Amino acid sequence: MLTPDPKIAYFSMEIGFDSRIPTYAGGLGILAGDFIRSAADMRVPIVGVTLAHRKGYFFQQFDASGWQKEEPANWIIDDFMTDTGIRATVTLEGREVQIRAWKYEVSGNDGYAVPVYFLDTDLQENSAWDRTLTHYLYGGDVHYRLCQEVVLGTGGIRILRALGYHNLQRFHMNEGHASLLTLELLREQLQKDNRSYVDMGPEDIEVVRRQCVFTTHTPVPAGHDQFPLDLVDRVLGNRDACGIHDPICHEDRLNMTFLALTFSHYINGVAKKHGEVSRHMFSSYSIDSITNGVHAENWVSEAFAQLFDQHIPGWRQDNFSLRYALSIPDEAIWEAHQHSKDVLIERTNSEVNAGFDTDILTIGFARRFATYKRADLIFEDLERLRKIARDVGKFQIVFAGKAHPQDQDGKLLIQRIIELGKMLGDDVPIAYLPHYNLDLARIMTAGVDIWLNTPQPPLEASGTSGMKAALNGVPSLSILDGWWIEGCIEGVTGWSIRADGEAPQEAGDRAKDADALYTKLEQIILPMFYGERKRFIEIMRHAIALNGSFFNTQRMMQQYVLKAYFP
Ligand SMILES: *Cc1c(COP(=O)(O)O)cnc(C)c1O
Repeated sequence: MLTPDPKIAYFSMEIGFDSRIPTYAGGLGILAGDFIRSAADMRVPIVGVTLAHRKGYFFQQFDASGWQKEEPANWIIDDFMTDTGIRATVTLEGREVQIRAWKYEVSGNDGYAVPVYFLDTDLQENSAWDRTLTHYLYGGDVHYRLCQEVVLGTGGIRILRALGYHNLQRFHMNEGHASLLTLELLREQLQKDNRSYVDMGPEDIEVVRRQCVFTTHTPVPAGHDQFPLDLVDRVLGNRDACGIHDPICHEDRLNMTFLALTFSHYINGVAKKHGEVSRHMFSSYSIDSITNGVHAENWVSEAFAQLFDQHIPGWRQDNFSLRYALSIPDEAIWEAHQHSKDVLIERTNSEVNAGFDTDILTIGFARRFATYKRADLIFEDLERLRKIARDVGKFQIVFAGKAHPQDQDGKLLIQRIIELGKMLGDDVPIAYLPHYNLDLARIMTAGVDIWLNTPQPPLEASGTSGMKAALNGVPSLSILDGWWIEGCIEGVTGWSIRADGEAPQEAGDRAKDADALYTKLEQIILPMFYGERKRFIEIMRHAIALNGSFFNTQRMMQQYVLKAYFP
């Protein structure tokens, strides 16, 4: 069944639904995909807008030295989507650029379908360069990026209108990439009575504000998209003539975050701590928080889905009921976990010949390889790592993740981890699995025994992999930042790194963090895993009951509906 009359339009530069549709780079896109899935389950009248990214977010390979190589991730769009036949145009540098809309449908667990439109400029009518605008996610330079954002924001609104969506009441910007939609809504408002941007007043801004919702995801100022004003003038035309004034222009740049902040009536960060950090960064705006989640059914392994079906019927429709995992017997939890672990170990051994053993404690780490995530923190002191494995208990670590093609430091980090893995040899087996995507993420988050996360605080806005792990009974060992500040009950749902009476330092002190990580492994986790299995399983159970039941997109969608869309 189709959404009868959508009231909400959700815009995101990336959305991840399926490993075969590589239009996502990381957490932002996975979140968008899970959000739409929950909207479909819950019959929230929403429509999604994103770009087609026909060459995807690259296919990852490594050369012999462990250096990442990228190839276009080609995929065949009409295997998955249908051409609506609907077109719209935007003007870039005075040229008309045609946009087409592909439709993808996401069905909820009772068949309700949410439409998502993938915008595409790869049309014969467009110039060769304009045709590439919807090819590469986060590719190219600032010029390319600004043009993409015009296609997404301005083009997105025009496509929705051309498709016949005239009763939309809310426009939700998932991060600032789609902020230009606000100026298009403003233009529509002015055009109603034949006015131009020059005659706009505060009441016009208010009309747009009432309709817009903005979710910010970035806790560092440099992470926010901004464009030099001369570039803006060149691409959009004279900026006064398109409504761009103070306070949207910040320090001589068009700042997409300020644009979204100015024109939104509801603004939120993605975890309580991130809300606080954002209020500090943008002190003149009122900023709330809604903590992220993951789509439970999408992330639960087959073995755990069967277990939940047996013990908690209805968990797919009511994720809160996962609290009843408290009554699932030890053996059943352990057995389901061993199934998921077998799948991961088998994949790891067949793919990179890692020689992993299913009886050994397995630690997982997989994310985008941005340097603040400090994937190599656990290698700070190799001698200590070896000594723990020798004296306390063996463990093996599996890594995965892509570095952005232009992020040389991220690539060096991957190379270093592959190199360190070779040095450690059999003392601490290390595997690096290539081409991290949705499928591999499912296998890893469900199949490891411990999910490791070591970002430098306060740079983790939320983080979601640990939530996927929790749904599969996998406890986290993580720095107290992002969602883990809310999710960690020490020794009950998992473990923090440096929480024992010592406040996590804002700057992130590498040596101290690594020391605390080693101490937890050495004194608590390894002895419990090998010597007190019952206690370990108790923590697995709590991860599901306390965290799986809460950190999901069903709860998150309820909060968006009540706080942001229709308070
Ligand atoms: C969940 C996921 C991410 C995001 O993980 P974070 O822990 O939020 O950084 C990135 N990539 C893939 C493929 C994922 O499944």
